[in-house]
Amino acid sequence: MVIFMKLRIVSLPGDGVGPEVTRVALEVLRLVLERAGHELEVDQRLIGWAATQAEGEPLADATIAAALAADGVLLGAVGDPAADRLPPVRRPEAGILRLRSALGCYANLRPAKAYPPLVASSPLKADHVAGTDLVIVRELAGGLYYGRSREVGLGSRRKATDTETYTVNEIRRVAKVAFDLARTRRRVVTSVDKANVLSASRLWREVVIDVATEYPDVECSHMLVDRAAMELVLRSRSFDVILTSNLFGDILSDEAAGVVGSIGLLGSASLGGETAIYEPVHGSAPDLAGRDRANPFGAIVSVALMLRHSFQLEAEAVAVERALERVLVKGLRTADIAALHEAVVGTQAFGAAVLAALAGETGTVAAARSAG
Ligand code: NAD
Repeated sequence: MVIFMKLRIVSLPGDGVGPEVTRVALEVLRLVLERAGHELEVDQRLIGWAATQAEGEPLADATIAAALAADGVLLGAVGDPAADRLPPVRRPEAGILRLRSALGCYANLRPAKAYPPLVASSPLKADHVAGTDLVIVRELAGGLYYGRSREVGLGSRRKATDTETYTVNEIRRVAKVAFDLARTRRRVVTSVDKANVLSASRLWREVVIDVATEYPDVECSHMLVDRAAMELVLRSRSFDVILTSNLFGDILSDEAAGVVGSIGLLGSASLGGETAIYEPVHGSAPDLAGRDRANPFGAIVSVALMLRHSFQLEAEAVAVERALERVLVKGLRTADIAALHEAVVGTQAFGAAVLAALAGETGTVAAARSAG
């Protein structure tokens, strides 16, 4: 029996291309939920530079309260060149850090997949890239981004310090997410650290080794981050789940995006807290903002992740993923994923094609449900 749900999400389009890709992603979410008979209520609010300009700070308390009460948060991106010289606490990025911390999200899942129709247009050789299908599980609530940070001194005596701290509990809880995820995939976890130099990384490795004993069915190995950066380019196919810290995960996921073709392709889910956050991996791309040039793919992947992880609507998540793949098979390309001489469509046209493909996919899901 299908139980119809009333779902309430908070949408935070943010800055730059954030509002453009979020608009398209929301249309996809609305269609798939409507077709499945669920009700969607969207509470749209501000974050980042847009929030600073309108509300005086990158994330208002009322927005946090709304997010805490919601069934999920869909985020665009934050960042604006006009804010580059502001002190850290007033920068748009402070809004995202505060949101993640307030919601308690500590595990950031970033899938990266080489879609067959795009393999030939990858910057790497096709046979290196084909078959790549990995997820980076990035620790999101601790590490260097939340450590003590300060700057002292003047002129040539200025000195800046950031610190990386991890506790056993912080490592253990995100490691468990990675191992549990691996059990739904190929059962291989590669934990990435810098244990030959950093204390926090040595603790990281010890705790992961301990957690691995609870998962004898999952193969676990450890790799230094410099080697992992190289292996991602040489043998991206060999990875299944990559478990790593806040900083290393941030960097390696952009590299993984480069391997599969574009940062515009990657979506993410930030889990573990009161409310999960779903957002594309890319930033606000000020160079593309307002030009209908941004790829909405990663934002739409994030909607699929929301359907799967927050609403437990697996068939609908798969329908969205299939619709995206069908659009690629049809040959639609935004500028970032187009090979030389391939025709290019804008954000809106790509989104419209996904909606059209989804109408077919959701018809199939509905038919399968009524037959079952
Ligand atoms: P970026 O991800 O915005 O852009 C990097 C490159 O990728 C640019 O060439 C851009 O044109 C391209 N790109 C990004 N998104 C794209 C898309 N959807 N389709 C096609 N091409 C796309 O990273 P950046 O240039 O380093 O940072 C720009 C701003 O975004 C900065 O203010 C930064 O702090 C912020 N940022 C925010 C987030 C976030 O909101 N989670 C993440 C990263 C960077």
